[in-house]
Amino acid sequence: KKIVIAIDGYSACGKSSTAKRVAAQLNYAYIDTGAMYRAVTYYFLQHFVNPTNPKAVEQALKTIGIEFHYNPKTGENETYLNGLNVEKEIRGMEVSERVSEVSTLPRVRSCMVELQRKMGKKKGVVMDGRDIGTTVFPDAELKIFMTADFNERAARRQQELLEKKQLVALEAVKENLAKRDHIDTTRAESPLRKAEDAYVIDTTHTTMDEQVGMILDMART
Ligand code: C5P
Repeated sequence: KKIVIAIDGYSACGKSSTAKRVAAQLNYAYIDTGAMYRAVTYYFLQHFVNPTNPKAVEQALKTIGIEFHYNPKTGENETYLNGLNVEKEIRGMEVSERVSEVSTLPRVRSCMVELQRKMGKKKGVVMDGRDIGTTVFPDAELKIFMTADFNERAARRQQELLEKKQLVALEAVKENLAKRDHIDTTRAESPLRKAEDAYVIDTTHTTMDEQVGMILDMART
């Protein structure tokens, strides 16, 4: 039986990489909800949308179209904003610096949650984010909450950025993660928290294979 697997947790705990691998193993769809909030933020930056102006936000949300398309070359689902591939743009520090603030806006969240529910309607989906098990799919059959040591997360994110040819000082990465953690856990609208029925996986000392294996075991029972 195909199910919904919700993976939530802090930034840079390995959610996306783990979720992708689990989805591939199970032949499920993978949906990166962080990419959706990043795409909205990128649009706001490009079009100088003032997040404190509700009319401007509303107007922007009407114009924004987000889709994922599989790229056989990279083997990845890539993010499209109004028909353009923005995969590279949304992963940079400029978007990372602003995304959590944009994600506090209730209208942005309600729009994304609606879209996420549509995308996940067909069972057999792994979705990662901050509020999937609590808000988007509170009835998900399997919920995972991922955590990891703060310094380990920062080191991993720095390495990831480096692989994308972005050299960012460790201190700057730490600052960004700490700031996002704070905004994500304290916002009024569906803050980041562990769903009561979620299983916690601390990835500080586990390998990718172990993390993926744990989730696959749970999904298959
Ligand atoms: O997962 P990722 O780190 O790419 O997400 C970027 C940001 O988007 C998070 O720091 C958070 O502020 C926001 N986000 C969210 N709800 C989600 C997914 C991401 O608020 N479901």
